[in-house]
Amino acid sequence: MSRQIPIMTAPHEQIEQIQLEGIKQTAVRCYENIPFYRKSFDDAGFDPRSIESFDDLARAPFVTKQDLRDNAPYGMLAVPLSEVREVHMSSGTTGVATLGAYTSHDIEIWRECFGRGLVFANADENDVCQICYGYGLFTGGLGAHYGSMWSGATVIPISAGNTERQVRTLRDLGTTILECTPSYAMHIADTAIEMGLDPARDFHLRAGIHGAEPFSDAFRADLERKLDYKVLDIYGLTETMGPGVAVECMEQDGLHLAEDHFYAEIINPATGEVLPDGEWGELVITTTDREASPVVRYRTRDITRIIPGECPCGCTHRRIDRLHGRTDDMLIIRGVNVFPSQIEDVMKHFDEVSSWYQIELDTRGSLDVVTLKVETNPNFPLDSIGAVEGLQGKIQSALKTALSVGIKVKLVEPKSIPRSEGKAKRVIDLRKGIN
Ligand SMILES: [Zn+2]
Repeated sequence: MSRQIPIMTAPHEQIEQIQLEGIKQTAVRCYENIPFYRKSFDDAGFDPRSIESFDDLARAPFVTKQDLRDNAPYGMLAVPLSEVREVHMSSGTTGVATLGAYTSHDIEIWRECFGRGLVFANADENDVCQICYGYGLFTGGLGAHYGSMWSGATVIPISAGNTERQVRTLRDLGTTILECTPSYAMHIADTAIEMGLDPARDFHLRAGIHGAEPFSDAFRADLERKLDYKVLDIYGLTETMGPGVAVECMEQDGLHLAEDHFYAEIINPATGEVLPDGEWGELVITTTDREASPVVRYRTRDITRIIPGECPCGCTHRRIDRLHGRTDDMLIIRGVNVFPSQIEDVMKHFDEVSSWYQIELDTRGSLDVVTLKVETNPNFPLDSIGAVEGLQGKIQSALKTALSVGIKVKLVEPKSIPRSEGKAKRVIDLRKGIN
């Protein structure tokens, strides 16, 4: 029997009490210990001691990734460095990395929050977890490691890379739970099939915990079919802890927030106004009990919504919907907002193509030109010009109907789009002035 966490099924009023108390303590601690918050709250005329309700929190100013960068590395610590046991950094793709710091207590929370994914997967000491998230400064590897250790399962800390060895390990060590990015799971699945293995026969997989990048329902269905297991989505970010902020249960209908540790709001990204449950917007997180790197109203830039209603699984914590993408993944093509996931949703209607694609943005004159490169399945006759042009035309018109924007489709050979061992690079932006 898997370990249980009583708060996961506690009455929601009890969770709200924990949240409200935690929010207030966190805001006061931030104000007293972090000069950035003191100034930001004072400038906004916000007194953290005045928080009596969730509405009061909505008067507090936001904190952004840029604020964290401006105060990197140690400016946002709420405890002396001597109390910090571990630090992680977010991938600094745009320059300065931001730091996530953990006291012993913070690591305990992280262990148990990621562990909720293992609880949902019904993991116990009979399970074998293969962790092929990258270990290191990226929070994926160690987050998965802590959570899987907590569950009592046997842990294989293989990290990312050497995909054929991943496949042999899956088979030879009887892995039951695979933990990595969804795109790497797909690469492992395709490699296994190429090596002549039949995952349904040769593997003992029953669940995958895949996060760190958005993936569509179609992508999930493809993965589940290839590896004969059930895929659970996990969400998190270094700035608020790492993976485990929210995890999907076996219902596969949204990710349960770890609400006793995180308070979530959904805002209109343009106005900052808090939106009611059910509406899509930007996720904003306040930590309730993080010691080293607390945040008050952190703008995640991730687009989701709170799913109204209760989940049949029995967990009482509210759910966020699967991510549409990030505000900064959103492509603005000739004035139209497009998320890569919307493109994926269109492609799933075409059996002739696989889940691998890449979007290339370029300019011709003053116009944006978007090319969607998509791999065909191996049995598609790429040498037949008629078949290629026919299918390209069909996908183009489906995209035009769904997104109201013209996208050029280019079919490419299977395996021609570069595979990644971590997060997939879906968008290549060649537009002038962007890179
Ligand atoms: Zn559930």
